[in-house]
Amino acid sequence: MEAFALIKRNEADIIKVEEPKLSGIYNAILTPVAISVCTSDVNTVYGSGSKKPDNLILGHEAVARVLEVGEKVKDFKSGDIVVVPSMTPDFHDKDIQDGNFLHAGANFSANTLGRSTPGVFAREFEVANVDLNLAILPEGVSLGNGLMCTDMVTTGFTGAERVNFGDTVVVLGIGAVGLMAICGASLRGAGRIIAVGSREVSIPLAYEYGASEVISYKECDITEYVLKTTGGKGADIVIIAGGNDRTFSDAIDMVRYGVGKVVNLKLFTGDGSMEIPKFSSGRGMSGKSVYMELGKGGRVRMERLLSMVKHKRFAPEKMITHIFEGFENVVPALELMKDKGNTVIKTMILTGW
Ligand SMILES: [Zn+2]
Repeated sequence: MEAFALIKRNEADIIKVEEPKLSGIYNAILTPVAISVCTSDVNTVYGSGSKKPDNLILGHEAVARVLEVGEKVKDFKSGDIVVVPSMTPDFHDKDIQDGNFLHAGANFSANTLGRSTPGVFAREFEVANVDLNLAILPEGVSLGNGLMCTDMVTTGFTGAERVNFGDTVVVLGIGAVGLMAICGASLRGAGRIIAVGSREVSIPLAYEYGASEVISYKECDITEYVLKTTGGKGADIVIIAGGNDRTFSDAIDMVRYGVGKVVNLKLFTGDGSMEIPKFSSGRGMSGKSVYMELGKGGRVRMERLLSMVKHKRFAPEKMITHIFEGFENVVPALELMKDKGNTVIKTMILTGW
């Protein structure tokens, strides 16, 4: 079968591999109907992360059709169209009982697809523990809306979950995750949402999803702006969904003393440190909290997000700027995400399968 795989660092291509065989009684084999390339796929190919398995099949964003299920699978059958979350926790690990879903048993254990196991960019792929990890695409929910829930929505909303009614929220970055953090913050009842970014294609969507203002690094000093316009107090919550290594310390600088929260959703690539400034952290005594988050996964999470989409709370498919037909277009789609021209937010590839 065809699969889009990492050949070696800086090189990915469509290769021929053996079809996967069902390896567990709780698992299923699926074929992707719609897929999207994520910035983390770009990082897997072009980044400096840890050594990956040879010919690792990429991809973790898919809406798929079930082909075959293991004998203990209760709720899914061949032919079902399902949303596959990018994070598929190992619900059989005892660490789950501590509420540790994403790192149960091992660091990043939920981040399997396209990382430690073959990803979704293949004619067939396997998902483990499907009764706990897949969600049926509800009637009336488009492929695009379902596809965006797999990663962008759940990750952005993970940042927004700490927002309280009336909070002043800063969202640093208006790529897809930033846009969904804005949307989530708005749905959580934020008061003021300051979105930070300059990508033209994203600005109208940032407003549509709930930003009260969109400001750009290019036009002003963001920290100064946030402090000045909050009477020197700073924001209640700063969500990091973009920027560079400096951004982490900026976030500490612009969040409130006592109750302020910094929630990071950004992947910090390369070596070195994310610095916490001594002064604005109150020399370590400011009462500011830092959360480092990976988007949540699992079936119930997906079902909740899909319910919101179905009942028209928001429409994440508006972020899809490029639609391709035919699996082979996963190759140009990866390039598009790598070069991040001014017109792209997310892609959708209809595989034709
Ligand atoms: Zn991703």
